[in-house]
Amino acid sequence: MEELDVIVIGAGLSGICALHTLSSTSSQIPLSFVALESRPEIGGTWSFFKYPGFRNDSSMFTFGFGFNPWRQTKHIVEGSQIKKYLNETVDKFDLRKHIKTNVCVTKCDFSKKTGKWTVTTKDKTYIASYIISATGYYDYSKPHFPAYDGTLDFTSNGGTIMHAQFWDDDLSLKNKTVSIIGSGATAITILPMLVAQGVKVNLIQRSPTYIVPMPSTEDNLFSKLILKYFGEYGFTIFRYFHLWIGYFFFWYCTWFPMMARISIKTTAFFSLQVSSGDFRKNYNRHFTPKYNPWQQRLCLSPDNDFYSSVVKPNCSVHTGIINRFNSKGVELADGSTVDTDVLVYATGLTLLPLGGIKLTVDGKETKPADTVMYKSYHPSSIPNLFVLTGYLNSSWTLRVELTMDYVGRILRKMRKQKYDLCYPVFKEKDRVADLLGFNSGYIVRGGGLMPQQGKGSPWVMWQNYARDWWEMTMGSLDDGVMKFERIARKEAVEKRMNYAEKRAEKGMGNLKRRPKQKMSIFE
Ligand SMILES: Cc1cc2nc3c(=O)[nH]c(=O)nc-3n(C[C@H](O)[C@H](O)[C@H](O)COP(=O)(O)OP(=O)(O)OC[C@H]3O[C@@H](n4cnc5c(N)ncnc54)[C@H](O)[C@@H]3O)c2cc1C
Repeated sequence: MEELDVIVIGAGLSGICALHTLSSTSSQIPLSFVALESRPEIGGTWSFFKYPGFRNDSSMFTFGFGFNPWRQTKHIVEGSQIKKYLNETVDKFDLRKHIKTNVCVTKCDFSKKTGKWTVTTKDKTYIASYIISATGYYDYSKPHFPAYDGTLDFTSNGGTIMHAQFWDDDLSLKNKTVSIIGSGATAITILPMLVAQGVKVNLIQRSPTYIVPMPSTEDNLFSKLILKYFGEYGFTIFRYFHLWIGYFFFWYCTWFPMMARISIKTTAFFSLQVSSGDFRKNYNRHFTPKYNPWQQRLCLSPDNDFYSSVVKPNCSVHTGIINRFNSKGVELADGSTVDTDVLVYATGLTLLPLGGIKLTVDGKETKPADTVMYKSYHPSSIPNLFVLTGYLNSSWTLRVELTMDYVGRILRKMRKQKYDLCYPVFKEKDRVADLLGFNSGYIVRGGGLMPQQGKGSPWVMWQNYARDWWEMTMGSLDDGVMKFERIARKEAVEKRMNYAEKRAEKGMGNLKRRPKQKMSIFE
């Protein structure tokens, strides 16, 4: 058994950010901490996915850490470069000594009596005052893998099926026809890579997604001038430029959905760069989504790689419902068959809150879906648990950094004022059952598992950096919702209550003078 102040669960991007904050906080208040990571290496998403073209789709200027800014003009980069950047960050800030890999946390139990977490892993038990959950949001072992009739007919005739989450590098695609099922970020990333390799590619989508082309490198005249005159500070300017331009575009889409639809549609139309043929005739069917922009995460296409690939002779798009698989490939509802040798599922993720860890308070299980998120990071009524999640409409990192700054403030306050417990108290009447307000497939499928949100601040998960910045940086820690308690004081008051009651039974003393407040939600 090992006892520490803080345990971070997960050493992906969020876990690394948490370690950096803890490391700098420990120069003000001594802190012992460790990150437990179930995989053999750090980096989470960025060391896990291997499919061709795997990359970020929000700018590295905002996706990179504020404390270790991205210093390259190419800001949409391959996953391997992001993995390298995360490893360099860990080494630069001497964080590797705080990371234990191959350690999967299975259970966390909080004791109200001791004010400590007992963290169970396969080999060892840890005790900690605080837990920071940086486990991401999806199941690494189970992607979304919809079943279709006829799978056996397809595979027994030599067809191969693989999910993009478990890309098989050893599988040769030379002279093969590959059909990609899906229309999200993964599908539109894989497609241009395979088309460029000369593979015959079919994109099979039930319905299209909004795809917006953007340059992958800051190399226009304006950017060059910025770098020339501001030097390294130019990258900070790029960071804020990308942060705000992203938000303005999001607000434009939210407030003026019709105009946004038309402008994205027009851009896509001209990005196709063909004047006739199937894509022009069936443009609406293949490239016009049924929902409004940003009701689902928008897909970015660096340097217009998607639209310029889709029109190549070795690529075709099929929009329709899949009926079943057959010995030749994929049979669509209209009766046609898309001939296929290799079927790639780009059908998405399965949501998994808290990395599937069983969470109990004094042995009683609490499901994430039973909690409501305070300021997007603290599940209601669970003491000393901080959960790191990012934005859906902007870079994940932006909110994780804001949250960790806030957590640093909380830890300093609690140490200084000798508090043992912190927990937000939620009033049931304020519950609304929807955490994220997005209707992407994986969110709709897994929504019932996720924590909920309430009717107003601090119980809403804003997708708004400016608002969060204001609340997290300037907001008071004592907002009347977050409770801070000292266990010793709680016990002392309990003792005084018992003493006063006993004296009252004996007709001595005045019962009215006993401490009458309820000490905490735990009583
Ligand atoms: C394909 C893909 C592309 C993406 N692109 C972008 C993008 O461009 N921009 C953007 O903002 N966001 C993007 N995202 C979202 C992305 O997940 C986040 O940006 C970010 O990488 C999440 O970091 P994280 O550390 O919170 O989670 P993860 O990267 O998922 O890391 C979580 C870590 O916790 C570990 N873990 C989980 N459970 C346990 C446990 N029980 N015990 C111990 N360890 C555990 C995991 O092994 C993992 O290493 C993308 C996501 C995917 C899947």
